[in-house]
Amino acid sequence: MKFSKQRELILNTILNSSTHLTADNIYNTLKSKNPSLSLGTVYRNLSQLTENGFIKKVSIPNQPDRFDKNTHTHGHLVCEVCNEIFDINYTSIENLYNYLKKDGNIIKSYDIVLNGICKKCSKNI
Ligand SMILES: [Zn+2]
Ligand SMILES: [Zn+2]
Repeated sequence: MKFSKQRELILNTILNSSTHLTADNIYNTLKSKNPSLSLGTVYRNLSQLTENGFIKKVSIPNQPDRFDKNTHTHGHLVCEVCNEIFDINYTSIENLYNYLKKDGNIIKSYDIVLNGICKKCSKNI
């Protein structure tokens, strides 16, 4: 895959972020220094980067897609208070996955989304 300057900027924005950014987030971060960048370009590059395995798309019901630098299979916790999305690296999910596989099922990937209130927000309720 060819890397244009804009594609590199978009990828680096995701790699340097500690959160799961939306296309809008990325566009808003980059547009002031890159006036020629359009939202359409951001979307196009994001889908190409996803297709080529550089990043992962996270689909959350009723929310815009987020883009994840963590390309390993993992679950997510969506906080209904701060709207942040957190990675879940819990071995039980991995165990379930391996169990189903050992049992003869062909599991290609999983996409687990848990809804709730994150540990930071739950302190304030
Ligand atoms: Zn929260
Ligand atoms: Zn993630």
